[in-house]
Amino acid sequence: MFKNFICLEGIDGSGKSTQIASLESLLKSRGLEVLKIREPGGTEISEAVRQILLNPAHKGKMSDITELLLYNAARAQLLHEVIKPALEKGIAVLADRFAHSTLAYQGYGRGLNIDIIKNLLHVTCADFFPKTFILDIPVSLSRERQQKDKSRGKADRIEQEDNIFFERVRKGYQEIAKENPETCILLDATRPPEDIFKLLVSHLDG
Ligand code: ADP
Repeated sequence: MFKNFICLEGIDGSGKSTQIASLESLLKSRGLEVLKIREPGGTEISEAVRQILLNPAHKGKMSDITELLLYNAARAQLLHEVIKPALEKGIAVLADRFAHSTLAYQGYGRGLNIDIIKNLLHVTCADFFPKTFILDIPVSLSRERQQKDKSRGKADRIEQEDNIFFERVRKGYQEIAKENPETCILLDATRPPEDIFKLLVSHLDG
């Protein structure tokens, strides 16, 4: 795990972008250069894979295994081209989602074999796993926040899944935090953003 590689996880509307923006300001004020990344995407190849993955026209067509492999293809390229070189230069990398999204969505959400996914993630990421903060929020509240948020575009293929799917994803995230107490910190995302940020920073600095 790299100290300056930090990831925010959680279902949509849990507040990842909000916390990343605060974290970016804090790290910059500490004199660090900051690079923000968003999955899937971030390189020419990974963005091309993103278009395939999120295209609503592929709903009901794409197999779960295809989805699993495409997410990891996009991630491997992002690590190779962007994340590793940045970390090696001492740049802090802030990720809006990373490997644990695959475990939560394709593993717990879609029901693919968890051990196979963990092995695949090690192939994709080697030792490059970030310090991860998981924003935990009820699905109903995440939906409410997304509906209020006018800056959001049309729901993509994954966002179009039903509440039962996102309940499984949320439980998956809770499980991941339980299994990895050192590297994955679960935060109550129903609290005000400033409270969440304070807690996050205390874990980061502690
Ligand atoms: P994500 O990146 O996880 O999809 P965002 O950071 O975009 O989530 O937040 C979704 C919406 O909820 C935004 O309108 C944001 O202002 C709001 N929001 C974020 N964090 C909180 C919070 N802790 N309490 C209430 N509203 C929040």
